[in-house]
Amino acid sequence: MLSDAGRTAAVEQDLVDSQNMPYAAFDRMPFEAVQIGAASIRIVFGPGSFTLPRQRIVDYVRQSAQTVALYFGKFPAPLARLLVLNTSSAGRPIRSGTAFGYQGAAIKLTLADDVTEADLDRDWILVHEMSHLALPSLPRRHHWFEEGMASYVEPLARAQAGLLSVQRVWGEMVKGMPQGLPQPGEQGLNRTRTWGRTYWGGALFCLLADIETRQATDGMRGLQQALRAILAHGNIERESPIEPLLEIGDRATATRVLASLYDRMKDSPYPVDLDALWDRLGVRVTSGGIAFDDAAPLALFRTAMTRRL
Ligand SMILES: [Zn+2]
Repeated sequence: MLSDAGRTAAVEQDLVDSQNMPYAAFDRMPFEAVQIGAASIRIVFGPGSFTLPRQRIVDYVRQSAQTVALYFGKFPAPLARLLVLNTSSAGRPIRSGTAFGYQGAAIKLTLADDVTEADLDRDWILVHEMSHLALPSLPRRHHWFEEGMASYVEPLARAQAGLLSVQRVWGEMVKGMPQGLPQPGEQGLNRTRTWGRTYWGGALFCLLADIETRQATDGMRGLQQALRAILAHGNIERESPIEPLLEIGDRATATRVLASLYDRMKDSPYPVDLDALWDRLGVRVTSGGIAFDDAAPLALFRTAMTRRL
């Protein structure tokens, strides 16, 4: 029989060893609770300690959760488990994150043991993982929409929360979106196997959907309303094909934008002239960084995307 101390050590080892979310071990550990509206996040810390006080990491979790709640209108899971692991090996301070939905909404996050306040303030990974909770789990061929949605929402949510400058938002988009364009010989998004098309191709789908929705509704609605309606239907704990979700999103904006864009991009390469798109949005790359042209035809949509709903 294990002593209490021995049992805790064994459970801690289970937390670290599991490739997936170790739900059983997690639920036997003491946790810190963070409340976001009606939603509750349970944080369990794995073995080892951080240079920063634990409370600072709890505060960072709360801020990330509030950011995501601001974008989606609520935190996307009534109860979420967050496992924070710790590593002393060399690498990025926010090492990795993974979201799970199979046995309840959960995130596994690995931080360097010497992670600093500045690292936490700059981090995008936790907001990205928490955004994943807002979408039902899709079949593998639709993985691009899961990654694209989280990649597209994360900077906009942080900008809406006042945590990221609009210059950074558009600077990253201008830099990243070309990686989402179809390469020679590539087919539609449902057939992609590449990282660029999965993350940035999916994000480009979301950007185009956001702009087309705003065009179709005279700027009254955008992708944000569609994603809130999809979340109201179910979060990561639910499994769904993509088509009914796009329909729910379209119904919320009284358009056919998502279904139509999906038809155009799912099987065919669908090249996009990004330079022309940045021009219409009024996003200019200058020697000093990003500058904006508020007289551009889509400038009002661009500013609405980073404004709180
Ligand atoms: Zn992701």
